[in-house]
Amino acid sequence: MDISVVVPLYNEAESLPELTAWIKRVMDENGFTYEIIFVSDGSNDNSWEVIETLREENKAVRGVKFRRNYGKSPALHEGFKRAQGEVVITMDADLQDSPDEIPQLYKMIKIDGYDLVSGWKKKRYDPLSKTIPTKLFNATARRVTGIKLHDFNCGLKAYRLDVVKSIEVYGDMHRFMPYLAKIAGFTKIGEKVVHHQARKYGSTKFGLDRFVNGYLDLITLWFFNKFAAQPMHFFGLLGSLMFLIGFVAVIFVGAYKIYSMMNYMPYRLVTESPYFYIALTMMVLGTLLFLAGFIGELVVRNSSERNRYNIDKEI
Ligand code: UDP
Ligand code: MG
Repeated sequence: MDISVVVPLYNEAESLPELTAWIKRVMDENGFTYEIIFVSDGSNDNSWEVIETLREENKAVRGVKFRRNYGKSPALHEGFKRAQGEVVITMDADLQDSPDEIPQLYKMIKIDGYDLVSGWKKKRYDPLSKTIPTKLFNATARRVTGIKLHDFNCGLKAYRLDVVKSIEVYGDMHRFMPYLAKIAGFTKIGEKVVHHQARKYGSTKFGLDRFVNGYLDLITLWFFNKFAAQPMHFFGLLGSLMFLIGFVAVIFVGAYKIYSMMNYMPYRLVTESPYFYIALTMMVLGTLLFLAGFIGELVVRNSSERNRYNIDKEI
């Protein structure tokens, strides 16, 4: 099979027949063999009935129905699990992404050799309240991930099948598919300007909290990528350093008092010196950080992921 189209959807019943017909037209015109995997993410409109009807007309349509709403990432995850096409395309169900982009995306993967191609909604049809924070978000994501994409969270993306089978998307991590791919060792990541339309039916499923969550997830991923395999390298170093500075300072505070006593200079209780408390705090924090690192190492040692590597070839 050439192409799997994975479509996560939450209450998008009106859009589905139009989307399916459009995808079918593009596929037939280009002679692609394909499947469309609709993942209904706990929709409570009649999306599922619509998917069932569509399947009766066209066996290329497949469907998965979540019992409740889990989110876009879990929906993509289930779609990816079932995808069989050599190229996997994800798109939103709301007709904001155009199926006309599919042949070009397919070509970029199959012929130009990209692992992942992300859409770039250069001209967007969304309210300003969304486009401005999005710009900031993308700028941060570019810096942190080192991937030069303009539009990380574009729903329209194409993947080599290998990629979706090697990465695991969960939580809200769909915003960082390119980063997940990069962490898994797929570095040929490209971008294609795509057409974008205003939402035709229904309403957006994400509020402004998407940006807060996006930033938090970015920090998580970055930190995870850097230190998850060896937590001690971060916490241990920081903890040891803090403890050491605190320890030296405490000794100094004590030694200074003894020195003053022996030389008949005026002296105070050690506990009256602010430095004593600063040093104490540093020792306590240092110990805690060190412990966090150690516990982290214990967790890693027991993790089933500890020896999972993405192997490219073997002879
Ligand atoms: N979506 C989903 N589960 C959710 C929220 C959204 O499957 O919990 C789907 C939604 O139906 C759409 C896609 O994710 O197909 C993108 O959502 P939306 O168009 O609301 O996002 P926006 O275009 O506003 O970024
Ligand atoms: Mg949308």
